[in-house]
Amino acid sequence: MKYISTRGATAPKPFSEVLLMGLAPDGGLMLPEHYPQIDAATLQQWRGLSYPELAFEIISLFATDIPAADLRNIINRTYTAEIFGSAEITPVRTLSDGIKIQALSNGPTLAFKDMAMQFLGNAFEYVLAKAGRQLNILGATSGDTGSAAEYALRGKKGINVFMLSPEGKMSSFQRAQMFSLQDANIHNIAVQGMFDDCQDIVKAVQNDAAFKAQHHIGTVNSINWGRIVAQVVYYFAGYFKATETNAQKVSFCVPSGNFGNICAGHIARQMGLPIRRLIAATNENDVLDEFFKTGVYRPRTAEHTHVTSSPSMDISKASNFERFVFDLTGRNAAQIRALWAEVGSGKGFDLSEKLPEIHEKYGFASGRSSHRNRLDTIADVYRSGGGLIDPHTADGIQVAREVRQAGETIVCLETALAAKFEDTIHEAAGSVTVPRPAALEGLEQLPQRVQTVPNNADIVKTIIRETLEK
Ligand SMILES: *Cc1c(COP(=O)(O)O)cnc(C)c1O
Repeated sequence: MKYISTRGATAPKPFSEVLLMGLAPDGGLMLPEHYPQIDAATLQQWRGLSYPELAFEIISLFATDIPAADLRNIINRTYTAEIFGSAEITPVRTLSDGIKIQALSNGPTLAFKDMAMQFLGNAFEYVLAKAGRQLNILGATSGDTGSAAEYALRGKKGINVFMLSPEGKMSSFQRAQMFSLQDANIHNIAVQGMFDDCQDIVKAVQNDAAFKAQHHIGTVNSINWGRIVAQVVYYFAGYFKATETNAQKVSFCVPSGNFGNICAGHIARQMGLPIRRLIAATNENDVLDEFFKTGVYRPRTAEHTHVTSSPSMDISKASNFERFVFDLTGRNAAQIRALWAEVGSGKGFDLSEKLPEIHEKYGFASGRSSHRNRLDTIADVYRSGGGLIDPHTADGIQVAREVRQAGETIVCLETALAAKFEDTIHEAAGSVTVPRPAALEGLEQLPQRVQTVPNNADIVKTIIRETLEK
């Protein structure tokens, strides 16, 4: 299996190279040359597999340059009851109104990003060791992504993590989660500025080609192909849990921001998983909801990006969306270059002539949720005995309830646990006790490791250089 870029100007590459890549050199995103097709007999056989067995079957179709025994070992070390809270890894439960929830947030940082990042951490370490290489991850985070990366890469050989975060802007829980890590390869850097300033510093370092090459600087953002492929697995797992036979169809409702999570659902559907609809649930930042309703993609400016109570979906443009549009255009790289030239110039594009295909051939639907909807949904699910759900998952439940058709089975993906967003839970449901996994009791009291720096890229470069020279 080789990988190509959506912009069509990158030579085909094997999985283990694509694994370490961010954007392709031509500015596109990497995708497999074709999607493996799962026939009925294979699907039937997969129904009985454990999560790690299923993960091996699926990922081995994509990671064809990693020997089977090595891949199995990476996967068996990743998807364990110890790391994900149960042998099922992603159990499915049913709410009183019949909507199902697939738990994806029982990993170390209580958000679905662990599902892919934990795999990536082990896969990175393996691929780097084989190539005798080193990788220094530089990232910016406002919370979730940074902690998932740090917990996935802590203690890994050949890897350092330099994670920038805006000083004082994360919740005390998020700060404690990241800054309490004492692993020598994890470096937390609090920048005196906003999240955008942190991102600008990352870009400035990335743009310094000499520094980047000399210090082996890489990233792990949501466009990484390794993350998408690991996410494909739980759509199959959720489908098997929600059905009795493969004659049944299931729809997935996915709280969406950068289109990474639901992009994996699109790939699972293209592989032949019987998915009826893929429902994108957005918050007030509804660029994707607008596209799936109108066919018009209209990325927002920073000023038109809302700060909401489901903050991990506060995006102005959806960075993985290009992967779907590539398929939608019949994999036409020239058209993708033209469409994204429009995006780059601050406009967007209009594919409304493709709406029937978007809905019928590809099965997409969408909805949006507001702060009020989110609070009401959290309160309602709690009162009806469904437990406390987090604000992002609430956006998914709200939209699923709104768009559900007669006889449709909808599985909502749980993208975080309520424990990460106590303030919104209290606003929604009053002074309830928000359960926290035992391992995280007293987290805020642990000693913290972080250095605070002015908003200045050169100072960050100096820290990286001096740390690596030690
Ligand atoms: C990252 C994240 C999302 C959005 O996922 P995308 O892949 O960016 O669409 C939703 N909810 C939570 C809790 C997240 O951390």
